[in-house]
Amino acid sequence: MHHRRWQRNGDPLRLVVDRVPPGLTPQQRLAAKSERRGECLIYAPNWKSADHRKLILASGRWVGAHVLAWELANERSVPSGLFVCHKCDTPPCIEPAHLFLGTPRDNNEDRDRKGRKVIVRGTKSSRWKLTEHQVQQVRTAILAGEQARDLAIRFGVHPETITGAAVGRRWSHVTDPPPLVFVGRGRHGRWAVADP
Ligand SMILES: [Zn+2]
Repeated sequence: MHHRRWQRNGDPLRLVVDRVPPGLTPQQRLAAKSERRGECLIYAPNWKSADHRKLILASGRWVGAHVLAWELANERSVPSGLFVCHKCDTPPCIEPAHLFLGTPRDNNEDRDRKGRKVIVRGTKSSRWKLTEHQVQQVRTAILAGEQARDLAIRFGVHPETITGAAVGRRWSHVTDPPPLVFVGRGRHGRWAVADP
């Protein structure tokens, strides 16, 4: 695998070393690849894999972008045995207010809530997976005017999964908020809560 990367990029590590100008501080490196999406601050939004959310620091240490963000915000390193978890269930989010220190158990629950381990009703591929909590977040965000396209990136799923979560059917058992309908057409339309 490294050999193939070498052929393609000239350097086996280049795939994961973020392509930002040298000499930036860790803060600047995070900021250079982050985008605000709603309340979340998404690192490397065009990449799906957790491998693309790792940075190599000058010390040679590999660190997840969300771990680095927590450490910079709190001005200390993550104590050994603890993990940086997401309140927002959004793995690529590096918004410090959404990050908290958790135990291994919190970290597992965090991961489960994000749907990496739970089997979500009627879905098989991870590209189609959302948890019930995420469906609630999706509907709330869509009612607030966020685009399905942006939410698909934020949650790492197909855009159809986002609209599917919004309108229900598979997710009709999630009722807070209840399933949505698109009222009107095109630019003149808007999302609203469906009548029961
Ligand atoms: Zn977040």
